Amino acid sequence: ATAATAAMVWFRKGLRVHDNPALDAARRYGAGAGAASARLLYPVFVLDPRYLRPDPVAASPGSARAGVARIRFLLESLSDLDARLRRLGSRLLILRARHDVADAVCAALKDWNIGKLCFESDTEPYAQARDKKVTDFALASGIEVFTPVSHTLFDPAEIIKKNGGRPPLTYQSFVSIAGEPPDPAMEEYSELPPLGDTGEYELLPVPTVEELGYGDISQEIPPFRGGETEALRRMKESLQNKEWVAKFEKPKGDPSAFLKPSTTVLSPYLKSGCLSSRYFYHCIQDVYKSVRNHTKPPVSLIGQLLWRDFFYTVSYGTPNFDRMKGNKICKQIPWSENEELFVAWRDGQTGYPWIDAIMIQLRKWGWMHHLARHSVACFLTRGDMFIHWEKGRDVFERLLIDSDWAINNGNWLWLSCSSFFYQYHRIYSPITFGKKYDPNGNYIRHFIPVLKDMPREYIYEPWTAPISIQKKANCIIGKDYPKPVVDHETASKECRKRMGEAYASSRLDANPTKGKTLNSSR
Ligand code: FAD
Repeated sequence: ATAATAAMVWFRKGLRVHDNPALDAARRYGAGAGAASARLLYPVFVLDPRYLRPDPVAASPGSARAGVARIRFLLESLSDLDARLRRLGSRLLILRARHDVADAVCAALKDWNIGKLCFESDTEPYAQARDKKVTDFALASGIEVFTPVSHTLFDPAEIIKKNGGRPPLTYQSFVSIAGEPPDPAMEEYSELPPLGDTGEYELLPVPTVEELGYGDISQEIPPFRGGETEALRRMKESLQNKEWVAKFEKPKGDPSAFLKPSTTVLSPYLKSGCLSSRYFYHCIQDVYKSVRNHTKPPVSLIGQLLWRDFFYTVSYGTPNFDRMKGNKICKQIPWSENEELFVAWRDGQTGYPWIDAIMIQLRKWGWMHHLARHSVACFLTRGDMFIHWEKGRDVFERLLIDSDWAINNGNWLWLSCSSFFYQYHRIYSPITFGKKYDPNGNYIRHFIPVLKDMPREYIYEPWTAPISIQKKANCIIGKDYPKPVVDHETASKECRKRMGEAYASSRLDANPTKGKTLNSSR
């Protein structure tokens, strides 16, 4: 019977063929059974309505959970994966879940008589719940289940175990525990076992973003194409310049560089697993071997991959990591509510061109440089608006093409001085910070065309331009482009004060005797 040797590889992240232990195990399933027994492979991806269903009331086209740019990136990645599997004599089976992805997988496991299910382990809470449901069903049905760790360099659970059951909360302690990651599994093969019969199932081609019905998506198409093929090409291109790799220092990058970004822009590929982080790590180490000196973590390129694993580990070991309430590592700060200010921030209408250009790049491209993300996250929270980091997190989560639960939440906790980083008096200026890198404001002119003729001396503060200059630039402030919604000088002072108060009261909460009676126990 063929049934006993049918394996399913269920793709979710990990949208690649290289260094894919789940695919590898699925393709080997039943190899020892002899020639009499046909081996079958079902490579599956399930379209998740929770993720894809159009949301007509969202602030920009897309679903409630993802903007069009990321959905496009996902569909391109699926098409590329399908093409790569076809070259190996297989294909991607795209299924559409009616409601729940787990139910769709369980039904296919049963209908196709699968003997072994392989999928990459995923530490996000949503994925954990979904995967538990499928695993419980599979095991109860006598199906073998294999869930290797291959999305991160290290196994977060292992690191937590090595650290005595708690996640390491500083980068340094994380790095000292982590050691070296396993090598990527890069064995090449020329064919995969054939597809099994799919019976009554309707097999869909990968839909296009237009077919999914998001309304007007005629906005600028992001310059980053999804897929493993593009990921490998892009990585190769980045690593070709050995000197650049050896000298990479993250804090020195130019956040305004957009035609040729100053970092790799591999994040969307790492997020969706089009690129294996272990393979990337391994290739960077190869470059290091061929140069005399290279930078070191935390600022080096390897250091960036370790940041990624750091946030994965902390997020996995911290209950309620994605919220302030009930999150032990998050400072409890009485953020204010101000919908008007929040909407101005979200829609790139704050009147500060540096901030607005970044938010427009987010909406159009779904990617911005790390320090650009710093600027807008600081501005929304502890810098100017004093609005809850969870509100900013939600906007990033929806719109980034590299939107990543662990990294996004981790960085919002960081930037809002809610965890990891506490120097709340250090605030990014929405005027001088960008000017340092891009005095002519080319980045602003690109993403905010209405400011394209504003003279250089006013491009970061157009409200200070005399009206005659505004007229000449065809941009009247308050009409064609907004006036600043807050005054940075006063707003940032007020924010510092409120952060100081919140910190002082959290110290009292943590140690209720402090400041009351001095204890004489020592
Ligand atoms: P490179 O500098 O080339 O780094 C290589 C890889 O290292 C990245 O692709 C990424 O996987 C990892 N990496 C780099 N910086 C960090 C970091 N600070 N923390 C963790 N991993 C890192 N990154 C995401 O991938 N997804 C997110 O949702 C996300 N949200 C963020 C939210 C805020 C508020 C901030 C300040 C940063 C966020 N980042 C996020 C981290 C960082 O900005 C991006 O990873 C980086 O800009 C991606 O560009 P790159 O691939 O060119 O990075």
